[in-house]
Amino acid sequence: MSADTDVLVVGGGLAGLALGGYLARQGTPPTIVEQVPDWRESGYGIGLWEGGLDVLADLDCLDAAGDRAADPEAFAVRGEGGRLLARASLPADETSLLVVHRADLHAALRGAVPDDCLRMGTEPTRIEQRRDDVRVTFDDGSTGTFDLVVGADGVHSTVRERCFDDWTRREYDTYVWSLWPRQDVDVGADMVSVWGPGSEGFVARVGDRVGFNLAARLDSPPAPPARDALRDAADAVGWKLPDLLETDDEPFFDRVRDVSCERWHRDRVALVGDAAHAVHPISGMGASLALQDARVLAQELATAGRVETALARYERRRRPEVRRVTRSARIEAAVTFVESPRLRGVRDWVVEHTPLFELFVESQVGDGVGVF
Ligand SMILES: Cc1cc2nc3c(=O)[nH]c(=O)nc-3n(C[C@H](O)[C@H](O)[C@H](O)COP(=O)(O)OP(=O)(O)OC[C@H]3O[C@@H](n4cnc5c(N)ncnc54)[C@H](O)[C@@H]3O)c2cc1C
Repeated sequence: MSADTDVLVVGGGLAGLALGGYLARQGTPPTIVEQVPDWRESGYGIGLWEGGLDVLADLDCLDAAGDRAADPEAFAVRGEGGRLLARASLPADETSLLVVHRADLHAALRGAVPDDCLRMGTEPTRIEQRRDDVRVTFDDGSTGTFDLVVGADGVHSTVRERCFDDWTRREYDTYVWSLWPRQDVDVGADMVSVWGPGSEGFVARVGDRVGFNLAARLDSPPAPPARDALRDAADAVGWKLPDLLETDDEPFFDRVRDVSCERWHRDRVALVGDAAHAVHPISGMGASLALQDARVLAQELATAGRVETALARYERRRRPEVRRVTRSARIEAAVTFVESPRLRGVRDWVVEHTPLFELFVESQVGDGVGVF
């Protein structure tokens, strides 16, 4: 890709900023259009594993993210009433997992992108693929011609909707709340997954705050922010979750979805991150996948002579990992959100008495996992 290649990135989320950071370093800073006029502070807690941490290190953002994150000692899973089922210690001599609020991770990544790359409060209304370029019309009436357009615009991607046919967005009967309040409640120094009937709480202390995501299957969608349903779900899970609701903060609330796309590139348009392949959040891998997409796409754009070749190589390199994570996320969701008391009992016994959980954590971290 030559220095005068014009790249448009649609979406200044995690993947969009990381791609912007890499391209700026490679001497081809893109234009990034972001639909929101100002960055929001709302969001949810994210567990970021090795692949995502590598990207932060590449872009010199790891320290900035680490300052607002927790580096837990262990990952624990708890069952009925908070009973400890398994606990895997994480390697002590390196950071293999950071728990961080999405807004803090996003703020750290913004440090990698020159300010003049970003156009806030802007989105495309028309994307026209032509023989040798892509012509884009924006909602403020302006137009631009680009050598490449990258959709980094998340699970509801406009670029995917306008330029790709063969994709599906699956809506689960699972809803997720998140709170990140200042709290004195003692939740220990581990990242904890607590399993309730058809529900899961994800809890970690980060400084003087406690990050808390709660996902639960519901028969019908409640109106946001659905505080009553949140209270019921927290009571059903138990452990420290009901105490963590003692805050006036407004919870993040959304439905769980995943996205599968037959193709992530067409001519001179490509998709990255959730736009291409949103995975069920139970995997704890969507952000790491999005950041790795950005890294690999930037590498291929730097080395392949033609944009089309770079896009094909990018998709070929990223497909296997995304396929693996998507499958295992669906299995994890099926195992986690079990409602039948009998099946929950069997599952909890297996997790407590076999090395299954240790093997799972090892698959995220590699060697160095200990078991308690
Ligand atoms: C509750 C919850 C918990 C999660 N927990 C984890 C976790 O523990 N670990 C993990 O790795 N992942 C987790 N994830 C997933 C992770 O947050 C996503 O996979 C990740 O944010 C995807 O990054 P992205 O850049 O592709 O999309 P996003 O971060 O969604 O960014 C998309 C950006 O595009 C912008 N945009 C949208 N449409 C347009 C448009 N038309 N024009 C211009 N801009 C547009 C949006 O405003 C946004 O800024 C979780 C997700 C949820 C919902």
